[in-house]
Amino acid sequence: MAPVKVSKICCIGAGYVGGPTCAVIALKCPHIQVTIVDLNKDRIDAWNSPDFALPIYEPGLVEVVRQARGRNLFFSTDVDKGIKEADLIFVSVNTPTKKSGVGAGFAADLKYVELATRRIAEVATSSKIVVEKSTVPCRTAESMRTILEANSKPNCRFDILSNPEFLAEGTAISDLFSPDRVLIGSLQTQEGIDACQSLKQVYANWVPEERILTVGLWSSELSKLAANAMLAQRISSVNALSAICEATGANIDEVAHAIGYDSRIGPKFLKASVGFGGSCFQKDILNLVYLSESLHLPEVAAYWRQVVEMNEYQKRRFSKRVVDTLFNTITGKRIAVLGFAFKADTGDTRESAAITLIRDFQSEKALVNVYDPKVPHEQIWLDLEEASPQVPLDTIKKQVTICKSAIEACKDAEAVVIATEWKEFKEIDWEAVYASMNKPAFVFDGRLIIDAEKLRKIGFKVTTIGRPSNN
Ligand code: NAD
Repeated sequence: MAPVKVSKICCIGAGYVGGPTCAVIALKCPHIQVTIVDLNKDRIDAWNSPDFALPIYEPGLVEVVRQARGRNLFFSTDVDKGIKEADLIFVSVNTPTKKSGVGAGFAADLKYVELATRRIAEVATSSKIVVEKSTVPCRTAESMRTILEANSKPNCRFDILSNPEFLAEGTAISDLFSPDRVLIGSLQTQEGIDACQSLKQVYANWVPEERILTVGLWSSELSKLAANAMLAQRISSVNALSAICEATGANIDEVAHAIGYDSRIGPKFLKASVGFGGSCFQKDILNLVYLSESLHLPEVAAYWRQVVEMNEYQKRRFSKRVVDTLFNTITGKRIAVLGFAFKADTGDTRESAAITLIRDFQSEKALVNVYDPKVPHEQIWLDLEEASPQVPLDTIKKQVTICKSAIEACKDAEAVVIATEWKEFKEIDWEAVYASMNKPAFVFDGRLIIDAEKLRKIGFKVTTIGRPSNN
């Protein structure tokens, strides 16, 4: 058997990964028909919306979809048709952390991967290359293969590849246009190598050959967890140092700059903050913790668990600093939280630090004004409700107000807390903000984006991560 020339791709899962990834494949490979399917009709309707009101915000995404949609890019709820027609199928469904049962709080919940795999086996009437795009525990491909082989029809063979996605939300399109690397894992059999070549030919339409890495299946699966664990570990390391800076008078920006000059360390991803968020870092590390425990490697599990614990500590420490600085009580005080997304340039709020901060402020009976330029209001209410399940939404709505601008959020507040590094927060008219706030007016920069000295000159009392408070 030789590598198949891929002409029809189906992607199961039209989310933050499946949507942008396969839209870019369609753009770069006009000869390939790409159909992205999802069970969520609202999401598919949004992808198909005539005014391009797409279900996710990502810079550059609308332009990609505008060029390819209707030409060779299609969005549909007809999962079965998508599967039947394709010769290569990406499985890009969600793999959240299990909420209950064995491994709750740590293990990946693979029910969506299993359901999608079973569906492929049930409806496929010809051979398929099935590609794991979702982030999964090491050796998940083996389970997928067992399910596919047990349910396949005669003359249907399935080759499984792992092709984890390394895009970062907020820069997804540029990451996909010129990725650091594309990783493809396959079984080292002739069939596995042929399937790997088929997928490699798709990426080779725009990714330089030396950036397409081919490895074994298990290495590929583990590499994705390892990459996220190491990125998160870097953030937790710099955040741990930020606590020492606050206590000693060292400055975390200066320390990060100095250590980043070491070519073995490098300057990227060394910014202290209120903590990492997003749907991946915590989930993937916990996944690694669970995997290590399952493999009877408790010391390895403890090592990685500490990265998540440091992140929780950083968020708690920041909330406490706000309360301590506001004379040990925030009861009845208005606090403006700027930013609700877990990072700039995305509307995604999963595991956002803002959720934890607002929950902490609510529990101290503060009044919170929140503003984010991209997160829909319904999403904010959903997240706040989920964060405090014992508090009725009506009560939350008495304490929290969603504002239409940063200026509106800051009016009559005692303190401004920057939770997301949106560019527009750097450009706020701080003189006007100061004039509209109660005095003394405090700013807490959880993302190290403002010019603290400039704000101090205006009259603000400024607290930033990784520097002692010297108001
Ligand atoms: P998401 O929740 O945004 O999207 C997943 C989609 O899959 C949902 O729309 C859901 O309705 C759909 N789905 C679930 N089961 C289905 C089924 N059986 N048939 C059809 N559709 C189904 O998730 P996401 O952020 O796109 O993440 C997908 C995977 O990619 C996860 O494993 C994640 O860890 C990984 N990943 C995410 C990122 C990121 O930045 N978000 C980056 C790299 C990897």
